[in-house]
This record gives sequence, structure tokens and C-alpha cells, in this order.
Amino acid sequence: MNVQAPDQTVQTGASRHIDQIETFAAHNYHPLPVVVARADGVWVEDVDGRRYMDMLAAYSAVNFGHGNSDLIAAAGEQLGRVTLTSRAFNNDQLGPFCEELARLCGMEAVLPMNTGAEGVETAIKTARKWGYTKKGVPADRAKIICCADNFHGRTTTIISFSTDPQCREGFGPFTPGFEIIEYGNIDALRNAIDDNTVAFLVEPIQGEAGIIVPPEGYLRQVRQLCTDRGILFIADEIQSGLGRCGTTFCCEHEGVVPDVYILGKALGGGIMPISAVVSSRDILSVFKPGDHGSTFGGNPLACAIARKVVEILKTGKYQANARQMGEYLFGRLRTLNSDKIKEIRGRGLWVGIEFHPQAGKARDYCERLMHEGMLCKDTHEQTLRLAPPLCITKDEIDWAFERLERVLA
Ligand code: PLP
Repeated sequence: MNVQAPDQTVQTGASRHIDQIETFAAHNYHPLPVVVARADGVWVEDVDGRRYMDMLAAYSAVNFGHGNSDLIAAAGEQLGRVTLTSRAFNNDQLGPFCEELARLCGMEAVLPMNTGAEGVETAIKTARKWGYTKKGVPADRAKIICCADNFHGRTTTIISFSTDPQCREGFGPFTPGFEIIEYGNIDALRNAIDDNTVAFLVEPIQGEAGIIVPPEGYLRQVRQLCTDRGILFIADEIQSGLGRCGTTFCCEHEGVVPDVYILGKALGGGIMPISAVVSSRDILSVFKPGDHGSTFGGNPLACAIARKVVEILKTGKYQANARQMGEYLFGRLRTLNSDKIKEIRGRGLWVGIEFHPQAGKARDYCERLMHEGMLCKDTHEQTLRLAPPLCITKDEIDWAFERLERVLA
């Protein structure tokens, strides 16, 4: 697609779609008023033919770009063969997918699910059962430690350990068995661990909280403490992983490997939802037939796409581009001379721009950037996040920066 700003004088045809969505869809989102009809690379086009740069990449699910030809080909090929068998039978994509993903992670075994939240639920069940069967925690006493301002999904158990009032309000009663500590504080973790603690569940960078990077060395200390105290280190890399931070896994920045990875989003190449818990054979052996599962988990279509994702990640190409373009983007952003900006932070191609309260809400900036042809998402009121597909070029970053400069300076 050509790099050009949308023509704001064109009469919108999007309103018909927006009315229909407002009328017939539940109002559980507050999207920007844009209706996407097609997409390519880092660009999307709306129903009126206006082009926008996608600076969200579906919360990192589209890391490899819209319409990635390798992924589309893998999906197309598999669509013509077999798409769903359920796990009542095996399929010929499941074994290769599990082996290839396990090897990519330096792990031994994979439990495939669909959405990220299901992956997190699966990790919680893994840790609890591991605690009862391997660690000797008394029945129903397992404790999992989580962090304030976490975001791990939307199921009733996961929101039970959310500290965001809106995530919880009206949805109780909640699932017990979780303790919340401050993110980035190793002493808080040390003090919270007791005999019944089975795991520490943590995002290597907190995404929805506003791209919060923990203090240097935190993940290394977490690794050490979890080993010393005999609890599982579960890294939720659903958003931070698979290239976003310039490495295959965000944990690599501190040279650590958790006991359990939770992966999702980009694993499905932006085509199919597929998530996975990846760990050792010993840890995942807590599951026996009938303990856990999902009709669509490990389906051949999603597995075929995810195999291609693993193949792409093995080349390191997207990780390298995320590193190089991330550095370039951060470099340019740091030249922004704006009294609106409190902090710019992040890693790879994952950027949070936090505004001072007096500068107004990040949502307003998203709306203004939309009018400039860029689709971004606010998080936690004061932070604008930038997370483009990892195929973004230097010219495209320059294009984006011009708009950011106009709106933020
Ligand atoms: N974990 C993290 C770190 C996430 O960022 C998200 C989604 O944003 C989830 C879990 C939940 O994933 P899903 O929306 O696919 O259920």
C-alpha cells in the first residue's frame, strides 16, 4: 500500500457499520470510530478506502504484519486439508507444532489452548496441581503470587487477582488463592512466599498497565528466588513475547528462562487464536487424560499457522527488526520536545508514552492521531502505547514520527 495520509474530506461510510455495531453488539469496548475492511503489512484501510498505519497490531497478535504471505500460505494450505479434529483424535500438525515450539522455548512439552486467558488458566491449573502432587501442598491451600496492575485476561478466576476496579466490579464472587504484591519489588516477593506458595505469575513487562519495565535485574532475582524457594516462575509472555521486545522472549533480556512460559496472541500469526503453556515434561506431567482440555485446543489449522510462526521466529528476522527499528523509534521520540510527556519507556517495538495529567487523556491523543492516519491505543488513561507490526520500515517510522510530532509536540 502507498504511504499517504487519509483524506479527511471524504464523507464517511463507516457510520452505518458503527450504528450496526452499537445496536447489535454488546458495548464492552470503546473503539476508535474506524471500520477496517482490509490490511497489508503495517497498513489498514477502512470501508471508505482511507488508509491508516496500525500502531497496535491487535495488541501484538499481528507481530508479523497483516496479510503476511508466508502465514497466509500456511493457513491456505491447511484449510484445504483438515481444520479441526478435536483432541479425541490426533492430527498431523499437533506433534510437529509441539516439538517445534518446545525446542524454540528450550523446553520439553507444550499444552495448546486458544486464547491468552485460557493459557493463563491452564498455567494456574498446572501450578496448583504441581503444588499438590509434587510439592505436597495440602489440598485446596495452594497460593499463587501475582503483581499489582497485572493484566492476564478476563476470565472470572483471572480477574480475581486483578487490581483494576473496573475489571472486577460486578463480577464477584472471586476465586481465592492469590496474593498481590508490588511489581518490580523483589523483597515483596521474598516476603510473600510461604509453604503453600506454588508459583509467581508475572509479565516480564507489564503491557496493559502502560508498558512498565521492571528494574534491571528483577527477572534474574525472581528466577533465583523461585529456584531457592521451590516455586514455579511463570512468565506471561502473551504480549511481551514472540519478537515484540526485540528477542524471541522478553525474559531473554535478563538471560533467564522461567519454569513455565505462557504464549498467545502472535503465536496464531494474526489469523487464528492459539495459546500455549510450555514447560518441562515433569511439570506438565501433572495432567492426566480428562484433567483439562478444549475442543479447539491444538486444532490442525491453528497448529499449522503456529508452526510457520515458529519457523519465522527461528530466522530471527523480526526480532532483529524490532531491535533496530525500536532503537530508531526511541531515538526519534527522545528528540520530542514536549512538556506534555512525562516519560517514554519500553523495549523493542513496544513503547509507552505517558502524559502529565495536565496534558489531558491519552484517548484524546489517539483520536487526534487517527485523524492524522495513525491508529494507536491508550492504556490506563495517561499512556499512549505504540506497538506496530514488527515488519515496520525506517520510512514508515519517519512517517509515524511526523504525525506524533504534530500531535504531541
Ligand atoms: N496476558 C497478557 C499479558 C495479555 O496482554 C493478554 C491480553 O492482552 C492476555 C493475557 C489475555 O489474552 P486474550 O485476550 O487472548 O485472552
